[in-house]
Order: sequence, then structure tokens, then C-alpha cells
Amino acid sequence: MKSYDIVVIGAGPAGSSYARLAAENGYSVLLLERQEFSGKITACGGLLSRRHFEHFVEDPAIAEAPISRIDFVFPWGSVAHQEEFVTVQRCRFDRYLSENAARKGATLLTSTTATDYEIRGKGDVVVHTQSKDREKESFQCKLAVFADGPFSLAAKKNPRFNPEPKKPWWAFAYAYDFEGVTVEPDVCKIYLDQRLVRWGYAWIFPDNGMMNVGIGTILPEMKNRQDLKDAFQVMIEKHPVTAPLLKDQKILKKNGGYIPMRLLDEYVDDSEALIGDAAGMVSPLFGAGIDYCLEAAQHLAEVTDKAFKSGRFDRLFLNEYADKMEAGFFKDLKHQNWASDIIIKSMKYHSSLPTKLLSIAAFGGEYNRFNKLRTLFYPALGMPQKMKSAGEITFTHGTRD
Ligand SMILES: Cc1cc2nc3c(=O)[nH]c(=O)nc-3n(C[C@H](O)[C@H](O)[C@H](O)COP(=O)(O)OP(=O)(O)OC[C@H]3O[C@@H](n4cnc5c(N)ncnc54)[C@H](O)[C@@H]3O)c2cc1C
Repeated sequence: MKSYDIVVIGAGPAGSSYARLAAENGYSVLLLERQEFSGKITACGGLLSRRHFEHFVEDPAIAEAPISRIDFVFPWGSVAHQEEFVTVQRCRFDRYLSENAARKGATLLTSTTATDYEIRGKGDVVVHTQSKDREKESFQCKLAVFADGPFSLAAKKNPRFNPEPKKPWWAFAYAYDFEGVTVEPDVCKIYLDQRLVRWGYAWIFPDNGMMNVGIGTILPEMKNRQDLKDAFQVMIEKHPVTAPLLKDQKILKKNGGYIPMRLLDEYVDDSEALIGDAAGMVSPLFGAGIDYCLEAAQHLAEVTDKAFKSGRFDRLFLNEYADKMEAGFFKDLKHQNWASDIIIKSMKYHSSLPTKLLSIAAFGGEYNRFNKLRTLFYPALGMPQKMKSAGEITFTHGTRD
């Protein structure tokens, strides 16, 4: 049986970034990926912050489009939010990250699925795999890192990572590539409109000569996937704002995927750690996870470096990983969890309430009191119009009514 210091299961952005950092720290790392190459069939909008991109991605050419503004389009108008993002195509981005991890010393095994694992003791793990040509192989390591996305193997094996009862906070989203760009090339559009989905949103992200167009909602909102496909069709063919941008445009690629919308309570155990979607490190308001998993990769690499130096692979020691994140982006994530709980509950009162509450939660600081009321009771009191201060946010009313 071949032996490595660390086996990383899954070469998405979380696994590949962690594998690169661990390899750079001098550890022998095996990076397992079940797809023929990373990102080949991964569904995604591909929007991440420029700050994270520049910090974690060494080759700037992997970005498809620099984004300088996000327009949040509500039924009563749109809020233009100035921020620095980039878009990426996951089939290029993930492939680059995994191959870069290999360039930095990790061993990348593609078309190879981790099928099972055993924790034989602290610092003694065996990971069983099966390759595409059905060849079975097992690898020994001191630490197994699960970066295998939603439905992690670790959650199936270890009850600590799959606590019951857990509310089904899952979303599903479709992302299609459209040929041609009918929006400004540096502006992402996010459509929050209950006529498309009550809780969730649709988007158009420009993508270097193409557009990534998608729609997502939480599972309790769909009887089946056809419901969401129907809403997507409305977006493409009938919605007064989006249809003129999308109708008759050629679709090049169709993809869809699950998004775990709730952070797990725990993400380490003896000799194992979870990262990225496997641990539910995703914004419960926007379903975005790339920034979080890149940041978590850095925290985990720091903690596992210490673990190897001190020979400690027990849960208590590895838990410093959780502490680091508690002090970092978890604060933001937990606020979002709290807001999303309230917003989801609001749905039973009126189908447009989630969108209205999200608008007030996200931009309320910029609305005066009357505008908050107008937002809440739209259209009864007319359109919200004035902002308290212009700041970076501008408000254009009357996008459509
Ligand atoms: C339609 C859609 C749109 C999205 N848009 C955005 C967006 O615009 N911005 C954003 O930040 N987030 C977005 N997200 C969320 C984002 O895609 C995830 O948060 C992100 O991909 C998490 O990365 P990860 O590395 O944790 O997991 P993943 O990207 O899921 O990577 C896991 C990898 O592990 C591999 N794998 C799984 N099981 C095994 C196994 N047993 N053995 C070997 N390999 C295995 C998979 O093939 C995959 O390559 C979107 C999600 C969806 C579904």
C-alpha cells in the first residue's frame, strides 16, 4: 500500500488549494479526483472576489472577466453595488488549481473515486479508491482531508459530520453557458424576484465572450427539478427584464448542482478534516462558496502543518482549524444563517417578503425609514426612491413594474 502524509479527497477549489499549500509546506500529498479532469462537469456561476482570486490564484489569465459592479435587480428597481469580483469558468479554474497543486509537488490522481476509508488510529488512515477502469487501490496516510463537495464520503461514514436531526437546508441551481454577451462586460446581474423564485435568485454573469446564466432555490421550494427548469424558462423567454437579454441566444452548455446551505456543527475528527462544500461553508443567502473554501484551505494548511510538526492528529488539536475560522469568516456566515432563518420563515406570510427582507437586510442602511416601509409594502406605497446617502450604492427605480 502506497503511503502519503495527507490524502485529499476531491480536487475542487477547496481540495486543490489545500493540497497546493500542504505540498508547499513540504508534505507528501495525494489529491484524488473522480472526474477526468477537475471542473469538467462542475456546475457554477463562477463569481468570486478579486481579493481572493489574487491571493490564491497565481495565474491572472485564469480569470474570464473582471467585474466592477453587481446590480441587484428587484421588482421595484435595482441597486448597483460597486465591488471588485472576477468570473471564472470552473472547467478552466478547477483544472488549473489541481494541476498547479501537482506542479507544487502533490500527486494528482484523476478519474479516481474515494469509495471508503478507515480511521485505524490517530495518524493512521486508509483511503480506498476505485479508478475509472475499475482498478481498486488503497492508500495509507496520517490525515484525510475531505474536500469532496456536497454529499461527502465523510458525512456517510462519520455521524459527527452528519448530525441528526438536521433541517434540509439545501438548494439546487442550474447554470447554463450562453453564447454572446448582451450585458455590460464588467457587470453581474442578480435578479431577486418572486415571479422567478420566492427564495433564491437568478443571475447573469459575463464570462469572456459568453454569459453564465443561472437560477437556484432551496429544495422545499421545488416539487421536482422541472419546477426550477420552468422558472428558468420564464427567465429566458418571458420575464420583462431578463427575456430581452436571453431570448434567442444560443445555449452552449447546461449544468446543475446541489448547494449545501448550512455550515456543519463540526468539521474535524481524529485524523480527518472537512473543507468547502463538504463542511457546508457556503453563504446561506447567496449560495456562494468559492471565497470561503479558499480561505478555509489556508487555515487548514496552517493547522495541519502544526499537527505534523507536533505529531498530533487528534480532534482536539485539529480543532484549532475551527477556532481560526470562528475568528474569521464564520462570523459573517453565522449572521447570514440567522438572517436566512428569518427570511425563510417570512415566506409563509407573503411570497414577496423574502426578497423584500433581503433587500432591507443587505441595503437597508442606505434606505431612509420611509423607503424601508415602501420596500416592505411595495407596491401599495409606491416605489422606494431616496437613499439616505449615496455611498457606493446607487438606486435606480423603475427598472420595471
Ligand atoms: C449552479 C451553481 C452555481 C454556483 N455559483 C457560485 C458562484 O458563482 N460563486 C461561488 O462562490 N459559489 C458558487 N456555487 C457554489 C460553489 O460551486 C461551491 O461552493 C464550490 O464549488 C465548493 O468547492 P469545493 O471544492 O468545496 O467542492 P466542489 O467544487 O464540489 O469540488 C469537489 C470535488 O470533489 C470531487 N469528488 C467528489 N466526491 C469524490 C470522491 N469520492 N472521490 C474523488 N473525488 C470526489 C468532485 O468531482 C469535485 O471535483 C455555485 C454552485 C452551483 C451548484
